Amino acid sequence: MYHRVARPTHDPWEIAVAPERFSDQMRMLRQTRTPLAMGEFVDRIAAGTLPTNAVAVTFDDGYRDNLTVAAPILASLGISATVFITTGSIGSTRAFWWDELAELILARTAAADCEVSIGADRVQVVLPPVDRDAGHTDTWRGSEPSASERQRLYLSIWRQLRLLDNDTRMAAMTSLRSALGGAPANPDDCAMSVDDLVRLTSDGTINIGAHTMTHPSLPALPDDVKRLEVSASLQTCEQIAGTKIAGFAYPYGDRDDATKSIVMDCGAHWACSTRAAAVNTARVDFFDLPRIQVKDWSGAQLARVLHKQWIDA
Ligand SMILES: [Zn+2]
Repeated sequence: MYHRVARPTHDPWEIAVAPERFSDQMRMLRQTRTPLAMGEFVDRIAAGTLPTNAVAVTFDDGYRDNLTVAAPILASLGISATVFITTGSIGSTRAFWWDELAELILARTAAADCEVSIGADRVQVVLPPVDRDAGHTDTWRGSEPSASERQRLYLSIWRQLRLLDNDTRMAAMTSLRSALGGAPANPDDCAMSVDDLVRLTSDGTINIGAHTMTHPSLPALPDDVKRLEVSASLQTCEQIAGTKIAGFAYPYGDRDDATKSIVMDCGAHWACSTRAAAVNTARVDFFDLPRIQVKDWSGAQLARVLHKQWIDA
């Protein structure tokens, strides 16, 4: 499971792999594994003919760098990939909210003293200049304890925003942007446009799957909203691809039984979670296919991680 092939300054969720690392990882997969398109991977599990060293490459969200940076590397090695598209972000000139939030807070060098609205809450934002924000580093990860004021603030707002409905979250981002002063986003940090997606899928090496409209945590939503998020994103992907879409990925990997049956009902044939494991072909849930989040590793590091998962499965 990949998200970005890029080198962002702040990457608290470790979703970016640097281009030369990605290249090294793909060469390793080409040399030592059997890379398959997700559709074929799933068909061969069902047929009982999956090679034991098979892998499938996926990307979540639909970042533009998938087209500009990852696709040429994949094409040069003849490796297929599936990109799961957050359809409500297609063509947006703003960065995804979690990246914009990192830009507004973690990358901010100036002090701040203002108030922002997050849903019904008024949140006081007080930050010292970055050189007096003890413990602040560009390389901080959200999985580590937060040391600086910026890190604490980022994490607490991220946690709140993640669970808000889309309109309330967008209103909170507007409030944050006007209080903290955002800069325009780089196109490669944004989602692909319809034209980008048509180019991405034009030679058949890369195909798309659905990843909801607004990237909510699905289990928390009422059933009718869940259904709309899933079905509308599948429909948009089908219009763009001009073909039936079989695959879906749960935002944040969040799923429960109700969510899984809605995804099934809406016509998907399989769905990926973020459960870090290898596929165990003896007991496969096609609506909970596990994936390993690939980090900014060398090809050899990725090979070790894959080998360990295979042993554990
Ligand atoms: Zn996602």
